[in-house]
Amino acid sequence: MYISEEQIAAVLTYEALIPAIRHALIDYSTGKVEQPLRQVLRVKDRAASPIGWFATMPVIHGDFMAVKTVTFYPDNTRMPTHLAVIELLDRATGQPLAVMDGRLITEMRTAAVSAVAAEALAPNAKTLGILGSGVQAHSHIEALRCINPAFREQGSIKVWSRNPGNAAKLAAATGATAVSIEQAAACDIVVTVTAAMTPVLLGKWLAPQSLVIAVGAVGPVLRELDDEVMRGYLVAESRQGSENESGDVILSSAKVQSELGEILAEAAPFPPRGRTVFKSLGMAIEDLTGAALVWKALNN
Ligand code: NDP
Repeated sequence: MYISEEQIAAVLTYEALIPAIRHALIDYSTGKVEQPLRQVLRVKDRAASPIGWFATMPVIHGDFMAVKTVTFYPDNTRMPTHLAVIELLDRATGQPLAVMDGRLITEMRTAAVSAVAAEALAPNAKTLGILGSGVQAHSHIEALRCINPAFREQGSIKVWSRNPGNAAKLAAATGATAVSIEQAAACDIVVTVTAAMTPVLLGKWLAPQSLVIAVGAVGPVLRELDDEVMRGYLVAESRQGSENESGDVILSSAKVQSELGEILAEAAPFPPRGRTVFKSLGMAIEDLTGAALVWKALNN
């Protein structure tokens, strides 16, 4: 059974995905998920110039097993920079249940993880700053509006992008406001969703009680945040992922204080007053969660 992006778009909603991701993060942090670090191959063209990466992400959880293959080609212009396929299997028998497009599930599950983090770590936030204007910038605005009605108010969401024209387009499409990077960084929640390789967000711009949700810089030598941002209280989606795959964590020598799932399970304390940084890198359990929702919706 092949499930297309159109079929997924017809059945997958943030209203169902966000609580499912919340449960999945708790299960991950309480040892109920079998998931190795993803394997990443760097892709070069025939002239040996780097052009992208290709990763495989297997996982076992609940009644299912899944594996995602995902590519990231930052220079793609005629198609999305991230493309993916997910295979969902029955845990009891090993039977493949479906192969489905993974692009939209990747887009939505990433924003759903951030929504869970925002709801848990900054429930009273009134303003949202977004750095970046691509696929993840759009999905984050939609997902964070689902968990916080303040972000449906005019003027509550401020967007910045390297290319000001792209920030203006995102603002026009979503009702957000295009601003300077300093203004976006001064919001209660600041989401970084850029493909930058060096820091774009500087700690000196942040408000004292802000929550930074760091989504880009997926790789051990990539940065999106400077060392001052990384002095905030660090909560990880996955301790193992952050310590192996996040340049912001590895190169700043920041210490992961807890996983989000540990806080949600009340197995770790709520962060103290002050600045909090949530580091997301994406996990196979999130893909499985989205894929299982889609499969169940189409088979009931
Ligand atoms: P897109 O390709 O759709 O958008 C990329 C964005 O990055 C654009 O807004 C672009 O701005 C901006 N950008 C590119 N280079 C730079 C730079 N040097 N400095 C500042 N901004 C830059 O990507 P996505 O939205 O799909 O992904 C965004 C990031 O999130 C990527 O780093 C990706 O790897 C990561 N990601 C993380 C996931 C997770 O689970 N944590 C899952 C999926 C993606 P402009 O157009 O204005 O130039």
